[in-house]
Amino acid sequence: MTPIKIVIVGYGKIAQDQHLPTLRSRSAFALAGVASLRNPLSQNHLSGVPSFGDLRSLAEAIPDLAAVALCTPPQVRYEIAREALERGLHVLLEKPPGITVSEVQALSHIARRKNVTLFASWHSRYAPGVAPARSWISQRQVRRVAVSWKEDVRVWHPGQTWIWSAGGLGVFDPGINALSILTHIIPGALILKAAELHFPTNCATPIAASLRLNDPQGAPIHMELDFLQKGLQTWDINVDTDDGSLELSMGGKRLSLGSIPAAIDDTPEYRALYTRFAELVDARRCDVDLAPLQLVADAFLCGRRIDTTPFIE
Ligand code: NAP
Repeated sequence: MTPIKIVIVGYGKIAQDQHLPTLRSRSAFALAGVASLRNPLSQNHLSGVPSFGDLRSLAEAIPDLAAVALCTPPQVRYEIAREALERGLHVLLEKPPGITVSEVQALSHIARRKNVTLFASWHSRYAPGVAPARSWISQRQVRRVAVSWKEDVRVWHPGQTWIWSAGGLGVFDPGINALSILTHIIPGALILKAAELHFPTNCATPIAASLRLNDPQGAPIHMELDFLQKGLQTWDINVDTDDGSLELSMGGKRLSLGSIPAAIDDTPEYRALYTRFAELVDARRCDVDLAPLQLVADAFLCGRRIDTTPFIE
């Protein structure tokens, strides 16, 4: 298969930590450039990789360009994705796929009209414990689920002011990863019943949240999200069933069934994610699951808002 010529748009933490090394190691893709739309004069310090300031100039410079991976903050993603799709490029969206459900639906319509791939990627679904957890749960009746997603924003997101402005999701920026796993491993559509959202008085997005959901059979799901966690950081999901319990920890990287750690395939998340993107491009199909974003939107729709102390980084 001819490698898919791809550019990365938005050269920040996730582009540098995951997308760049993964693309360089995947024979299905050929990295053709990096676009820094906010910072067009930056050369990205990447030797041998051309740098661009806008989509038009990169599309003109790389005539057989096939795809873009959008790694910007979500607030600026829609316009870039729309232009890329209209140019006939396949698009991978980092999570969350947008700042509203409606803008991602609009992108889906464009992708289908242009017959190109739109992949709203959820990297946590490719964590090694997630597929075996999904398979184990599918044979059982879920009784209760508890999610604890607690991390220190000052450690994991230094200087990322976009998280605190509208559309940046606040504590749901990591929390939506938990929802992407939950909506994948628990059968059927989850229903948001209630939420409490704690907003620092100087921020447009919450710093902590408590969610209550039900699975389709009414099993309770309780989620605690905190962005000010000190000490032990937790990205854990515990599922009690009619036939034993499961713990997915470290964001889906570790799976325990009872007291036994399950054997898992340790393929890194972004390798599996790009394998999926290559398959979708090959078949010219879209993969746009909005369930995690919809649940966040529902929490903002029905959640009780509680003002809390200002956040100063
Ligand atoms: P980041 O370090 O702040 O980088 C974002 C990059 O996007 C910037 O470096 C900038 O690159 C570009 N950009 C364009 N417009 C921008 C604007 N208005 N404000 C700020 N940056 C702008 O963020 P990140 O951690 O890489 O996160 C990006 C996306 O990936 C988010 O949706 C996040 O949820 C997701 N993600 C992050 C992680 C993680 O561990 N950090 C993990 C998985 C997914 P240029 O200067 O090149 O334009």
